[in-house]
Amino acid sequence: MKIGIPRALFYYQFYPFWKIFFESLGHNVILSSPTNKEILKKGIELCVDDACLPIKIFHGHVADLMGKVDTIYIPRIVSIEPKEYICPKFLGLPDMIRNSIPDLPCIMDTELNLYRGKSKIFDYVFKLGKDLNVNKNRVLVAYYKALKTQKQFEYQLTRELRIPQDILNETRQIQKDQVLEKKPSHIKVLLLGHNYNIYDDFISMGLIRKLRKQNIAFITSEMVVKKNILEGTKKLSKDMFWTLGKKTIGTAHYFLDRKKIDGIIHVASFGCGPDSLVGELIEKKIKRDYTIPFLSLNLDEHAGETGFNTRLEAFLDVLEGRGYIEDNFSTYG
Ligand code: SF4
Repeated sequence: MKIGIPRALFYYQFYPFWKIFFESLGHNVILSSPTNKEILKKGIELCVDDACLPIKIFHGHVADLMGKVDTIYIPRIVSIEPKEYICPKFLGLPDMIRNSIPDLPCIMDTELNLYRGKSKIFDYVFKLGKDLNVNKNRVLVAYYKALKTQKQFEYQLTRELRIPQDILNETRQIQKDQVLEKKPSHIKVLLLGHNYNIYDDFISMGLIRKLRKQNIAFITSEMVVKKNILEGTKKLSKDMFWTLGKKTIGTAHYFLDRKKIDGIIHVASFGCGPDSLVGELIEKKIKRDYTIPFLSLNLDEHAGETGFNTRLEAFLDVLEGRGYIEDNFSTYG
């Protein structure tokens, strides 16, 4: 069977697991095309108006897979960490898609809910196995194989400091030196935001490409081990139960407290409640306790690249003014 996986949302986090799991059970995995104008246009047409940009883009990726696959995998993700939740939009995603897109192929919408503990992952994989008509022994073999690949992927992120799109695309080696070694004329920027925003070259208007071109070192939440993220959340007055927001705030606090970065870029989606709250908390902390530059970039379907570049250029100019970098950033990319 051909199983389609939209190249959006949790693709950037769980694709290695899903790919190996389905392939081990004898299926072909087909990815949607990289995000492009057509996918965005389709997503806007099909999705409800008030959804955030990543959800609209996801609709476009589903449309891109139609006619190419037998089934589309759209898990109902409720929780990926014990005692924490994911944004509710993930929970309702299979329903949104069914209601918005006509003539869909079959949708596999297995629920992933680890709120009550990591061991619930077995409920998830056994349900997947049931949907695919596979017995539990074969499911377990596929699960452990997929888990091994997923752990390798996470090792590459946190230990080799590579980024998901480099590993998943397998197109280039990360410029490891840009991340690891702070040369005298280099700055290190903390790049915050949802992985499905910052690593999607189209949505983020090539932000990572532009930083690399400018020879700026950057670090993202995906490169930070969980222990350090949790360390960063310790000073919060309340425990956060939103996994994605906690990851962003924990990373920001961890690096701010250790004065390991020269500036922060926060990439947010227009229409995202968690993003606006998280961005504001980080900005307030910086204003209160630090003097490092902070840039908030809001992404929506109407954002123009020239304006985006101008803001990025201004931010880099501020860093340059502090004596960190030498070259100007072209407003034309
Ligand atoms: S966390 Fe924000 S950007 Fe992500 S799906 Fe939810 S509303 Fe959209």
